[in-house]
Amino acid sequence: MTESQNSRALWESADVVVLGAGPAGLVLGTLLHTAGIDCVILERASRTQVQTRARAGFLAPNTVRILERHGLADGLHRHGSRHGTCEFRTEDGRFRLDYGGLGQGGQHHVYPQQNLVTDLLTHYLDLGGRIRFHTEAQAVHDADGAEPSVMTREPDGRPTRWAARYVAGCDGRHGAARRSLPPSAVRRHRRDHGVTWLGLLAEAPPSLDAVGYAIHDRGFAGHMARTPEVTRYYLQWQRGTAADAWSEERIWDELDVRVRACDHGPLRRGGILERAVFDLTCDVIEPLRHGSLFLAGDAASLLAPAAAKGANLAVLEAEVLAEALTDAIARGDTAGLDRYSEQCLAHIWRAQEFTGWMTRLLHGPAGRDEDGGSHFDTALQRSRLASLRTSRVHQDWFAENYVGV
Ligand SMILES: Cc1cc2nc3c(=O)[nH]c(=O)nc-3n(C[C@H](O)[C@H](O)[C@H](O)COP(=O)(O)OP(=O)(O)OC[C@H]3O[C@@H](n4cnc5c(N)ncnc54)[C@H](O)[C@@H]3O)c2cc1C
Repeated sequence: MTESQNSRALWESADVVVLGAGPAGLVLGTLLHTAGIDCVILERASRTQVQTRARAGFLAPNTVRILERHGLADGLHRHGSRHGTCEFRTEDGRFRLDYGGLGQGGQHHVYPQQNLVTDLLTHYLDLGGRIRFHTEAQAVHDADGAEPSVMTREPDGRPTRWAARYVAGCDGRHGAARRSLPPSAVRRHRRDHGVTWLGLLAEAPPSLDAVGYAIHDRGFAGHMARTPEVTRYYLQWQRGTAADAWSEERIWDELDVRVRACDHGPLRRGGILERAVFDLTCDVIEPLRHGSLFLAGDAASLLAPAAAKGANLAVLEAEVLAEALTDAIARGDTAGLDRYSEQCLAHIWRAQEFTGWMTRLLHGPAGRDEDGGSHFDTALQRSRLASLRTSRVHQDWFAENYVGV
């Protein structure tokens, strides 16, 4: 912050300043507020934007247990549904895995992320929690010094400086928390899986009673239920091609080809409500702490959505961080904060490992053989699928990892 900004800035304070009102920030804010900790959530977007951003949908049993433990699961129990089957379609036919009954796994709850975020936000506000919408954090200052603070820009453009004892960076992959980390203090490990997806939200009932994974020479296609009226589809996509390059009809025709609708039945079509292109890239920040600044959720680690882990990790990390911050502020016990990074990184790397495995399972060749062909990777992919189809041990392993965080 410059001298002149500093003199013009409004001053506010909270023991914990939470950046971002996604699943991580809202769970963290709620748990801190309930424990009597002085905290505020600063959110760049409007309340409507936050409550309507459609992203995740599959919540793991551990996530549901955390939400239940803190009285945050009423909505998902009332309106969500249980899910425990996936169907793989390949050139060798199709096979189903009832992962909900295998291994130490369990079933997913299907509940759209925007509904969960709406529930969390309503609950937080009902408790009297403090939140500022339209307030963009610009930078975290002095995170490793005596006077940590967050510089924000208010809706009217005025700068405000928030003094804090601790700052929780829950503001996603492009947020201010990540930007404020000095390169010498952390490492960012990044992996590009070399695959791009077109993510679609269709106003159409699910076509399968399972998560559908179609593996095809023309690329991967995915089907995931969201609600009885809305279904998420994914198409592996040529990198660099715009999301609106294809007509709706061409998209549905291509989905039909890749899911082999001629063999297994047509998809139920409907209007496409949303489309977005994203590269399947992952990263991990290590450590998840710099002085008084802690990272959680996508700010800590970004996972490709192939294995549906991101929102689940965000909720888990928020609970761990809430407990550690409460111990530090209410009882002067900082052991939890000292453990936070190592404890959460163990879960993150496990989730990254499985996400990488899923990505290789679902997509065609990533590398080239010595002769310039791609037989090697294709054969490995087929072998992996054959093992999953036939080996009970492999299926148990899959089930545990698929729903675990
Ligand atoms: C298409 C898709 C499907 C997915 N499916 C699944 C799934 O089925 N299961 C699963 O577990 N995960 C899934 N994920 C991942 C999941 O959505 C994310 O991991 C999850 O949203 C992370 O939560 P978060 O709270 O960390 O971050 P976010 O939800 O990104 O929230 C961050 C918040 O911070 C705010 N913000 C950003 N910058 C600033 C700033 N400078 N100042 C103030 N506020 C700021 C943003 O506006 C936002 O509200 C999916 C993701 C995508 C894209």
